[in-house]
Amino acid sequence: MIEVRTGVAVIGGGPVGLSAANLLGHLGISCALYEKNATTSFHPRGHVVNTRTMEILRMLGVADAVDAVSLPLERHAGIAFVTSLTGDEIGVIETRSNPEWARIERSQSPVFKRSCPQDRLEPVLREHAETCDGVSVRFGHTVTAVHQDGTGVTLDWTDSSGRTGRTRAKYLIAADGPRSSTRDAVGIEMEGRSIGQQIGIYFHADLWALVEDRPYLLWWIYNARTSGVLISLDGRSRWTYNFGYREDESRDDFTAERCLKILRAVIGDEDIPIEIQNIMPWRMQSRIADRFSQGRVFIAGDAAHPLPPTGGQGFNTGVADVHNLIWKLGLVLNKTAPEALLDSYNIERRPVAKFNVEQSARNALAMVERGLSGILANDSLLLANLEGPEGAENRGKLAEGIPEQRAHFDYPGQTFGFHYESSLITPDGTPVPAFSVTAYEPSARPGHRAPHMEIEGQVGRSLIDLFDYRGFTLLTGPDGNAWTAAGQLAAQDLGLPISCYAIGTDVAVNADEWCRLYGVSKDGAVLVRPDGHVAWRSAGAGTPDELRAAAACAIGRSAAEKPAEKGQLEGAG
Ligand SMILES: Cc1cc2nc3c(=O)[nH]c(=O)nc-3n(C[C@H](O)[C@H](O)[C@H](O)COP(=O)(O)OP(=O)(O)OC[C@H]3O[C@@H](n4cnc5c(N)ncnc54)[C@H](O)[C@@H]3O)c2cc1C
Repeated sequence: MIEVRTGVAVIGGGPVGLSAANLLGHLGISCALYEKNATTSFHPRGHVVNTRTMEILRMLGVADAVDAVSLPLERHAGIAFVTSLTGDEIGVIETRSNPEWARIERSQSPVFKRSCPQDRLEPVLREHAETCDGVSVRFGHTVTAVHQDGTGVTLDWTDSSGRTGRTRAKYLIAADGPRSSTRDAVGIEMEGRSIGQQIGIYFHADLWALVEDRPYLLWWIYNARTSGVLISLDGRSRWTYNFGYREDESRDDFTAERCLKILRAVIGDEDIPIEIQNIMPWRMQSRIADRFSQGRVFIAGDAAHPLPPTGGQGFNTGVADVHNLIWKLGLVLNKTAPEALLDSYNIERRPVAKFNVEQSARNALAMVERGLSGILANDSLLLANLEGPEGAENRGKLAEGIPEQRAHFDYPGQTFGFHYESSLITPDGTPVPAFSVTAYEPSARPGHRAPHMEIEGQVGRSLIDLFDYRGFTLLTGPDGNAWTAAGQLAAQDLGLPISCYAIGTDVAVNADEWCRLYGVSKDGAVLVRPDGHVAWRSAGAGTPDELRAAAACAIGRSAAEKPAEKGQLEGAG
């Protein structure tokens, strides 16, 4: 039997497990990832990489590679509702095609939300993880058993040639998907429900002549023969089409021949050559784990919260999970923080994931209510009478419900506006700002993502680029010099990396604008966690003790506690 020792083991080589491996590699934590499939996904299931995930990928140095294999930005300009690609238009939700929308998007982040099909995204993540020192990525390895004790986790695995092995790790991240056997093995229960069963067809067809002047990401299709959603993967010839089927039907009823007929009804043209690449049944679920960790095992991604794809939150929520968890694992492994810090993973992430599960289900049901579902229940009488001049009235009825669906497709508030509440965050007494899924109001209130500001004279460079995943960042106002000394003292005392930047001196951003956006005066300061969320802010001048206490809390230590005995990074190497 092969024996392996590592800092953190990861089960699952989907987008979440691969992101975890990259984040662990970034921190120099040794990691072994096990994926039972021989290769990354062939079927492009998910595709929307939201702006927050793109910021995380930028920090890891892979955003450019993801951009290069994404749907071109100019083809990602809105959502269409039609009877078929050659049929009648019912309505459109504009996004990037609207100049004001595009201006607001640019003001919120240095990166853009992208559509990068999962079969293109995963290889980028895998390749990058494989370049990280100390990271071992093992495809074709099935984990067969997981046991934990007081000092670590043991995994038994079998590789594709039948060899068996055992891996001993300090901690385990289970990103093993919606049917997670690890979750079951450690006794974590799920709550929620299944919403319906669907078929996804991945196909190639050159549809350029039909879409050239309509650069839409999604095409919702409604006609007598089919209703569902067509996803543009490259804007031209790679597509998926997803639709629901009745409980009394079987996935086996959807033969290649039947699927081809369905695709003809989607396109509305009998002659365009179509090559079906794959037919994949899937189930729309709205479920969440009762807790995200058990002892040394942490569940993330679909293992913790399989959610409806209506809103494109699936792997995005999972990437945010591991981004929240891994800096904490790093501080615990190098003994800067107590193990209790890891309890905050469940406390901080579960409410955010729960909101995303519920919002995704709301999006699906809002479509049903207005007869627009496509992938769930549909009014078959209405669908039978939608096309041609005689269908105009019915199309008008459907069109009335389209503006109400914006939260499904356009959600900057949901992407950036969520916040964490836990003992790691020192409240400053200010109220939670108004929250809207469709509009983002930047806020540096403790718990929120520290807002983006462009650095002057450096096109494309952002204030958020300063936030180092390896440590904390202290931003001080232009008259807040005293905070810098306090930050250095706290860093020394706690053995915690804290990088200090004086606004206006070290960082060329407009100081008045920074004070307004970050909610402090010129002698104020803001402490930002490795994951870019604000841990503490002082509206004005204060004492070094306040900052030291907040930094101690932010890593799960009490303000009065003496510094821990520092050791080597246990998982390193
Ligand atoms: C039609 C559709 C559209 C979607 N659109 C989006 C979107 O736009 N944006 C978005 O964010 N999400 C989207 N999603 C959801 C997205 O596909 C999932 O959320 C995502 O795949 C979850 O990633 P994961 O890494 O958590 O799990 P998975 O991708 O399920 O990966 C889990 C991996 O674990 C492996 N595994 C399981 N057990 C073991 C074991 N014992 N040993 C070794 N390996 C194991 C599996 O083989 C699998 O590869 C969509 C989904 C669908 C169906």
